[in-house]
Amino acid sequence: MFLPTSARLTIDLDALAHNFAVLRAQAAGADAAPVIKADGYGLGAAQVARRLWAEGAKGFFVARLSEGESLRAALGAEHPATIYVLDGFLAGAGSRLAAARLTPVLSSLPQIEAATTFAAASGQALSVALQVDTGMNRQGLTLAEAEAVALSGDRLRGLDVVLLMSHLGSATDPNDPRNQLQLERFAQVRSLFPGVRTSFAASAGIMLGPEYRNDLIRPGISLYGGGPEERPDARLHAVAKFEAPILYIRNVEPGELIGYGSNTVIDKPTRVAVVGAGYADGIIRSSRNGGYGWLAGERRSVIIVTMDLIALDIGAAQARIGDWVELLGPNVLLDEIATAAGTVAHECLVRLGDRAERVYLGEA
Ligand SMILES: *Cc1c(COP(=O)(O)O)cnc(C)c1O
Repeated sequence: MFLPTSARLTIDLDALAHNFAVLRAQAAGADAAPVIKADGYGLGAAQVARRLWAEGAKGFFVARLSEGESLRAALGAEHPATIYVLDGFLAGAGSRLAAARLTPVLSSLPQIEAATTFAAASGQALSVALQVDTGMNRQGLTLAEAEAVALSGDRLRGLDVVLLMSHLGSATDPNDPRNQLQLERFAQVRSLFPGVRTSFAASAGIMLGPEYRNDLIRPGISLYGGGPEERPDARLHAVAKFEAPILYIRNVEPGELIGYGSNTVIDKPTRVAVVGAGYADGIIRSSRNGGYGWLAGERRSVIIVTMDLIALDIGAAQARIGDWVELLGPNVLLDEIATAAGTVAHECLVRLGDRAERVYLGEA
């Protein structure tokens, strides 16, 4: 008998397409530019982008210049997508942005100056997006800066502003009054740049209501199955399924520990399955606090996550060495695992590393 030799990450591109359709239907009429920074939230930017291009996406957001360059190369001439780079225009990056035909998201006055200087020197108009801070205090022009730029006449010389955008800080809580405040501020900003297309909503914002959609939505986590309110949403399908094989099964007596440390001492006889994945594969170590796996049709509590191995309490389950345990997927919900680990779904996905075998389902 051949046993599986490594954990397995299965990426279901049909589920991705399903989620994209759900989000677009929700944002009826708006264009959608998927966010595929950090290698498509760890699931493979090239595969994700090619499939979503086939589903009708014509633009994508990445964070880094290098991500944009890799994506341009992966998409090739047959997929001439607009690629927005959220890091914007960093010093010295002009020729690389231009060579890969990337659209920087300018988020400060120095970035705008650097871009206009480059455009003047190259003698060619540069396509850019402008980001305004409407309350998140992370990046983007202040309202006063946006106003000064809009009214100055020449501070955008040589730039072709194709998109005006802002980002919501509290959208996962629809009742947070900051959403409305940001909406009002963004309306002010929009009036300064008449005729420019606008983008406001990431996954959570798309679900807040029609006034948040604008011309272009920027879905990230919900494409990959994460609920917009940081809890499972039945409309969305799991895209990533992470499984590891059982390597050992043992019975442990009360008073014994399992793994490391006195906080894994058990108080009842426990049947333990040890599976071949750990935090080196991106399973967050703290997910023992309410984390679970799925075996033989039931949830099985995580006892401890070590670097290469995870111990689960499998009760009386029918189980053999070599059986697969699901650690994330349709039965082990991304948002629940994130909550158990004290983090967000985004982090659970991006951590899934390269050690597991990767399998793609569905047409790329
Ligand atoms: C990451 C990011 C998104 C996508 O956010 P999700 O919560 O994953 O949908 C959209 N816009 C900006 C500016 C981002 O940084």
